Amino acid sequence: MIDTHTHLYDDATVVAQDEHIQRALAAGVHKMYMPNCDSSTIEGMLQIAERYPQHCFPMMGLHPCYVKENYREELAVVEKYLAARSFSGVGEVGLDFYWDQTFVKEQKIAFEQQIDWALAYRLPVIIHSRSSTQECLDIIKRRQKGDLVAIFHCFSGTPEQAQRVAAMGCYVGIGGVVTFKTSNLPEVLRAISLEHVVLETDAPYLAPVPYRGKKNESTYLPLIAEKIASVYELPLAEVERVTTENAEKIFR
Ligand SMILES: [Zn+2]
Repeated sequence: MIDTHTHLYDDATVVAQDEHIQRALAAGVHKMYMPNCDSSTIEGMLQIAERYPQHCFPMMGLHPCYVKENYREELAVVEKYLAARSFSGVGEVGLDFYWDQTFVKEQKIAFEQQIDWALAYRLPVIIHSRSSTQECLDIIKRRQKGDLVAIFHCFSGTPEQAQRVAAMGCYVGIGGVVTFKTSNLPEVLRAISLEHVVLETDAPYLAPVPYRGKKNESTYLPLIAEKIASVYELPLAEVERVTTENAEKIFR
């Protein structure tokens, strides 16, 4: 299985990171993709990628929650790293109108700029779209000329919006929220085919039931796959196979 979104570098020590990764590997999660947040998370992320070149893959981007007064300097760091070494994707990027609306204009500028870079480097875009699904859909729709690949990570839109994602040739990232009782994600999943779904944990956030409220781990990815299998009434192995193929196609 592939965890398309895990902040492994949030584990404070190398020992904690190594134990986390070993547990995930033992649970059948053989690849983990790490989204970046801002300039402060790059070094820790790259150190993990160096220790686990077969299993842990770094991405590069400025997270919308970290777009502040100094966003131009932060974007310059992203630009520098994208030119200096290879990354698996541009992320996480996007819009977050939930936590703070002070820098909405700057968030949009940063998002568009980073889509430009993703297209230039032929990389997928990992989109964070908290309380902004419609705005992100509109931006991607406008930029989609056929070669843009995007994951709407931690998808929180409606079934209709999920259909729009799929119609643009993009993907919906499904994590622990799908296991929560009040989640609309089963409905979202039934509106699209498994060919447009990828697995993610967003560790250390949003742990699936029965770990809800605790620290999340890539190790818990099978719980998410199991829930998706029950929604689609498919064997677990089929969900693992298709979502792995989807992720391999995105990060090729
Ligand atoms: Zn994230």
